[in-house]
Amino acid sequence: MGLLNTFDRWKETRYQHHVSMMKEQGKCPDCHGRGYTVYPFTEFAYFNSMDCPGCQGSGDYADWEETR
Ligand SMILES: [Zn+2]
Repeated sequence: MGLLNTFDRWKETRYQHHVSMMKEQGKCPDCHGRGYTVYPFTEFAYFNSMDCPGCQGSGDYADWEETR
């Protein structure tokens, strides 16, 4: 098939683009610099705003990169 591979590459390309955009702005790619993540799914509703695990809540790109 190869369709899944193509989709995975497309996702990866989009993700890399997102990361480089956030890097330019100095923002954490996981939370867009907000410092917390929001889950839109009802089963996670009570975690509604928790510190972003990528940047430890700082929202900085540098902190996000360190936790990689
Ligand atoms: Zn973050």
